[in-house]
Amino acid sequence: MARHLLKNLEEIKKVLKGRRPSLFLDYDGTLIPAGGGPEDSGRATALLEKLSKKYPVAIVSGRRLSNLVRDVGVAGVASAGTHGFEVFHEDFSMVFDTGKMAKARLGILKKKFEEISARYPWSQVEDKGLAITVHYGWMDRTKIPALRADIKEAAREPVSEGVIRLRNSKMALEVQPAVDWDKGRAVLWMLDRPFFKCTLPIYIGDDQSDKYACKALKGRSITVYVGCIVEEACFYLKEQAEVLAFLDFLAA
Ligand SMILES: [Mg+2]
Repeated sequence: MARHLLKNLEEIKKVLKGRRPSLFLDYDGTLIPAGGGPEDSGRATALLEKLSKKYPVAIVSGRRLSNLVRDVGVAGVASAGTHGFEVFHEDFSMVFDTGKMAKARLGILKKKFEEISARYPWSQVEDKGLAITVHYGWMDRTKIPALRADIKEAAREPVSEGVIRLRNSKMALEVQPAVDWDKGRAVLWMLDRPFFKCTLPIYIGDDQSDKYACKALKGRSITVYVGCIVEEACFYLKEQAEVLAFLDFLAA
Protein backbone atom coordinates (compact mmCIF):
# COMPACT_ATOMS: atom_id res chain seq x y z
CA MET A 1 0.00 0.00 0.00
CA ALA A 2 1.39 3.36 -1.03
CA ARG A 3 2.56 5.59 1.79
CA HIS A 4 2.56 9.36 2.12
CA LEU A 5 5.85 10.62 0.68
CA LEU A 6 6.34 13.63 2.97
CA LYS A 7 5.78 11.49 6.07
CA ASN A 8 8.59 9.16 4.95
CA LEU A 9 11.36 11.61 4.07
CA GLU A 10 13.83 9.96 6.46
CA GLU A 11 13.46 6.71 4.55
CA ILE A 12 13.86 8.56 1.23
CA LYS A 13 17.08 10.15 2.52
CA LYS A 14 18.38 6.69 3.46
CA VAL A 15 17.46 5.20 0.07
CA LEU A 16 19.16 8.09 -1.74
CA LYS A 17 22.32 7.93 0.36
CA GLY A 18 25.27 7.29 -1.95
CA ARG A 19 22.96 7.20 -5.00
CA ARG A 20 22.47 9.82 -7.67
CA PRO A 21 18.77 10.48 -8.16
CA SER A 22 17.16 11.51 -11.45
CA LEU A 23 13.75 13.13 -11.72
CA PHE A 24 10.94 12.26 -14.13
CA LEU A 25 8.08 14.68 -13.64
CA ASP A 26 4.69 15.04 -15.21
CA TYR A 27 3.81 18.71 -15.80
CA ASP A 28 0.09 19.58 -15.63
CA GLY A 29 -1.37 18.67 -12.25
CA THR A 30 2.10 17.77 -10.95
CA LEU A 31 4.50 20.70 -11.45
CA ILE A 32 1.69 23.21 -11.94
CA PRO A 33 -1.90 23.00 -10.69
CA ALA A 34 -4.42 21.79 -13.30
CA GLY A 35 -5.36 24.89 -15.30
CA GLY A 36 -2.49 26.82 -13.70
CA GLY A 37 -1.56 30.32 -14.89
CA PRO A 38 1.70 32.12 -15.76
CA GLU A 39 2.59 32.56 -12.08
CA ASP A 40 2.52 28.78 -11.56
CA SER A 41 4.57 28.19 -14.73
CA GLY A 42 7.13 30.74 -13.55
CA ARG A 43 7.48 28.99 -10.21
CA ALA A 44 7.81 25.60 -11.88
CA THR A 45 10.47 26.90 -14.28
CA ALA A 46 12.50 28.43 -11.43
CA LEU A 47 12.29 25.14 -9.52
CA LEU A 48 13.30 23.11 -12.62
CA GLU A 49 16.31 25.38 -13.16
CA LYS A 50 17.36 24.77 -9.55
CA LEU A 51 16.77 21.01 -9.69
CA SER A 52 18.50 20.57 -13.06
CA LYS A 53 21.72 21.99 -11.59
CA LYS A 54 21.76 19.10 -9.09
CA TYR A 55 20.08 16.20 -10.91
CA PRO A 56 19.28 14.88 -14.40
CA VAL A 57 15.63 15.93 -14.94
CA ALA A 58 12.95 15.03 -17.51
CA ILE A 59 9.44 16.39 -17.97
CA VAL A 60 7.11 13.61 -19.10
CA SER A 61 3.86 15.10 -20.33
CA GLY A 62 0.79 14.50 -22.44
CA ARG A 63 1.42 17.85 -24.12
CA ARG A 64 2.80 17.87 -27.62
CA LEU A 65 6.62 18.07 -27.53
CA SER A 66 6.81 21.38 -29.43
CA ASN A 67 4.38 23.00 -26.94
CA LEU A 68 6.24 21.50 -24.01
CA VAL A 69 9.62 22.80 -25.20
CA ARG A 70 8.09 26.22 -25.98
CA ASP A 71 6.24 26.58 -22.65
CA VAL A 72 8.41 24.67 -20.20
CA GLY A 73 11.79 24.36 -21.90
CA VAL A 74 14.62 24.68 -19.42
CA ALA A 75 18.16 24.20 -20.74
CA GLY A 76 19.49 20.78 -19.78
CA VAL A 77 16.06 19.33 -18.93
CA ALA A 78 14.79 16.49 -21.13
CA SER A 79 11.25 16.81 -22.48
CA ALA A 80 9.04 13.83 -23.32
CA GLY A 81 5.84 14.92 -25.07
CA THR A 82 2.63 13.24 -26.28
CA HIS A 83 2.80 10.70 -23.45
CA GLY A 84 6.34 9.70 -24.32
CA PHE A 85 5.94 9.31 -28.12
CA GLU A 86 8.51 12.09 -28.68
CA VAL A 87 11.57 12.98 -26.60
CA PHE A 88 14.04 15.84 -26.84
CA HIS A 89 17.24 16.68 -25.00
CA GLU A 90 20.36 18.48 -26.22
CA ASP A 91 22.20 15.12 -26.29
CA PHE A 92 19.46 12.74 -27.48
CA SER A 93 16.05 12.70 -29.09
CA MET A 94 13.48 10.21 -30.29
CA VAL A 95 10.21 10.14 -32.22
CA PHE A 96 8.39 6.83 -31.92
CA ASP A 97 7.47 5.43 -35.34
CA THR A 98 3.75 4.81 -34.93
CA GLY A 99 3.42 3.45 -38.49
CA LYS A 100 1.66 4.66 -41.65
CA MET A 101 -1.61 2.92 -40.85
CA ALA A 102 -2.09 4.63 -37.48
CA LYS A 103 -1.14 8.03 -38.96
CA ALA A 104 -3.67 7.64 -41.78
CA ARG A 105 -6.39 6.56 -39.34
CA LEU A 106 -5.67 9.48 -37.01
CA GLY A 107 -6.03 11.85 -39.98
CA ILE A 108 -9.49 10.45 -40.74
CA LEU A 109 -10.49 10.44 -37.07
CA LYS A 110 -9.44 14.05 -36.60
CA LYS A 111 -12.03 15.18 -39.17
CA LYS A 112 -14.72 12.99 -37.61
CA PHE A 113 -13.92 14.25 -34.12
CA GLU A 114 -14.05 17.86 -35.26
CA GLU A 115 -17.54 17.28 -36.67
CA ILE A 116 -18.60 15.72 -33.37
CA SER A 117 -16.95 18.46 -31.33
CA ALA A 118 -18.85 21.13 -33.27
CA ARG A 119 -22.05 19.72 -31.71
CA TYR A 120 -20.68 19.99 -28.15
CA PRO A 121 -19.93 23.57 -27.04
CA TRP A 122 -16.60 23.96 -25.20
CA SER A 123 -15.26 20.57 -26.24
CA GLN A 124 -11.92 20.75 -28.02
CA VAL A 125 -10.05 18.46 -30.42
CA GLU A 126 -6.29 18.81 -30.07
CA ASP A 127 -4.21 17.37 -32.91
CA LYS A 128 -0.85 16.42 -31.42
CA GLY A 129 0.49 14.98 -34.67
CA LEU A 130 1.23 11.52 -33.24
CA ALA A 131 -2.05 11.38 -31.29
CA ILE A 132 -5.29 13.27 -30.74
CA THR A 133 -6.76 14.50 -27.47
CA VAL A 134 -10.44 15.30 -27.11
CA HIS A 135 -10.77 17.68 -24.18
CA TYR A 136 -14.06 18.17 -22.33
CA GLY A 137 -13.04 19.84 -19.06
CA TRP A 138 -14.81 23.09 -19.92
CA MET A 139 -18.00 21.42 -21.15
CA ASP A 140 -21.44 21.17 -19.57
CA ARG A 141 -20.89 18.06 -17.38
CA THR A 142 -24.23 16.52 -18.27
CA LYS A 143 -23.22 16.36 -21.96
CA ILE A 144 -19.85 14.62 -21.37
CA PRO A 145 -21.13 11.00 -21.49
CA ALA A 146 -22.80 11.66 -24.88
CA LEU A 147 -19.62 13.21 -26.31
CA ARG A 148 -17.51 10.29 -25.06
CA ALA A 149 -19.97 7.81 -26.57
CA ASP A 150 -19.86 9.63 -29.95
CA ILE A 151 -16.04 9.66 -29.96
CA LYS A 152 -15.89 5.96 -29.06
CA GLU A 153 -18.36 5.12 -31.81
CA ALA A 154 -16.39 7.15 -34.38
CA ALA A 155 -13.19 5.28 -33.41
CA ARG A 156 -14.84 1.85 -33.12
CA GLU A 157 -13.44 0.37 -36.33
CA PRO A 158 -9.73 1.28 -35.99
CA VAL A 159 -9.94 0.35 -32.29
CA SER A 160 -11.41 -3.09 -33.06
CA GLU A 161 -8.75 -3.57 -35.75
CA GLY A 162 -6.05 -2.90 -33.15
CA VAL A 163 -4.69 0.18 -34.93
CA ILE A 164 -5.90 2.83 -32.50
CA ARG A 165 -6.52 2.84 -28.75
CA LEU A 166 -8.53 5.13 -26.49
CA ARG A 167 -7.25 6.01 -23.06
CA ASN A 168 -8.88 8.04 -20.32
CA SER A 169 -7.11 11.12 -19.13
CA LYS A 170 -8.11 13.94 -16.81
CA MET A 171 -11.21 15.44 -18.44
CA ALA A 172 -10.07 14.16 -21.83
CA LEU A 173 -9.99 11.11 -24.08
CA GLU A 174 -6.59 10.27 -25.55
CA VAL A 175 -6.72 8.73 -29.01
CA GLN A 176 -3.38 7.06 -29.69
CA PRO A 177 -1.75 4.55 -32.03
CA ALA A 178 -2.20 1.10 -30.43
CA VAL A 179 1.52 0.45 -30.08
CA ASP A 180 3.62 -0.97 -27.27
CA TRP A 181 4.77 2.46 -26.12
CA ASP A 182 3.71 4.84 -23.35
CA LYS A 183 5.22 7.09 -20.68
CA GLY A 184 6.67 4.02 -18.95
CA ARG A 185 8.49 2.77 -22.04
CA ALA A 186 9.73 6.30 -22.77
CA VAL A 187 11.16 6.65 -19.25
CA LEU A 188 12.92 3.26 -19.54
CA TRP A 189 14.34 4.39 -22.91
CA MET A 190 15.62 7.64 -21.34
CA LEU A 191 17.17 5.72 -18.44
CA ASP A 192 19.40 3.97 -20.99
CA ARG A 193 20.84 7.29 -22.22
CA PRO A 194 24.21 8.23 -20.64
CA PHE A 195 22.56 11.38 -19.19
CA PHE A 196 20.40 9.26 -16.86
CA LYS A 197 22.57 6.13 -16.66
CA CYS A 198 23.10 4.63 -13.19
CA THR A 199 20.71 7.07 -11.51
CA LEU A 200 17.92 6.21 -9.10
CA PRO A 201 14.78 7.52 -10.81
CA ILE A 202 12.10 9.38 -8.91
CA TYR A 203 8.85 9.51 -10.90
CA ILE A 204 5.97 11.84 -9.97
CA GLY A 205 2.67 12.15 -11.84
CA ASP A 206 -1.07 12.52 -11.40
CA ASP A 207 -2.65 11.10 -14.54
CA GLN A 208 -3.77 7.70 -15.78
CA SER A 209 -0.74 7.71 -18.13
CA ASP A 210 1.55 8.18 -15.12
CA LYS A 211 0.31 4.88 -13.70
CA TYR A 212 1.90 3.11 -16.71
CA ALA A 213 5.18 4.84 -15.89
CA CYS A 214 4.95 3.89 -12.20
CA LYS A 215 4.23 0.30 -13.19
CA ALA A 216 7.18 0.16 -15.62
CA LEU A 217 9.51 1.54 -12.93
CA LYS A 218 8.30 -0.62 -10.06
CA GLY A 219 11.12 -2.15 -8.07
CA ARG A 220 13.81 0.14 -9.48
CA SER A 221 12.65 3.61 -8.52
CA ILE A 222 10.73 5.86 -6.16
CA THR A 223 7.29 6.21 -7.74
CA VAL A 224 4.86 8.83 -6.52
CA TYR A 225 1.24 9.34 -7.53
CA VAL A 226 -0.46 12.66 -6.87
CA GLY A 227 -4.07 12.89 -5.72
CA CYS A 228 -4.79 9.43 -4.33
CA ILE A 229 -3.37 6.04 -3.40
CA VAL A 230 -2.88 3.76 -6.41
CA GLU A 231 -1.43 0.26 -6.50
CA GLU A 232 1.08 1.18 -9.24
CA ALA A 233 3.04 3.68 -7.07
CA CYS A 234 5.08 3.21 -3.86
CA PHE A 235 4.16 6.64 -2.49
CA TYR A 236 1.42 9.24 -2.82
CA LEU A 237 1.01 12.95 -2.33
CA LYS A 238 -2.39 14.40 -1.55
CA GLU A 239 -2.19 17.40 -3.83
CA GLN A 240 -0.03 19.31 -6.28
CA ALA A 241 1.22 21.74 -3.60
CA GLU A 242 2.84 18.78 -1.82
CA VAL A 243 4.84 18.00 -4.97
CA LEU A 244 6.43 21.44 -4.73
CA ALA A 245 7.19 20.85 -1.04
CA PHE A 246 8.99 17.60 -1.90
CA LEU A 247 10.90 19.14 -4.82
CA ASP A 248 11.93 22.08 -2.61
CA PHE A 249 13.31 19.47 -0.18
CA LEU A 250 15.29 17.84 -3.00
CA ALA A 251 16.52 21.19 -4.35
CA ALA A 252 17.74 22.35 -0.91
MG1 LIG B 1 -0.80 15.46 -15.18
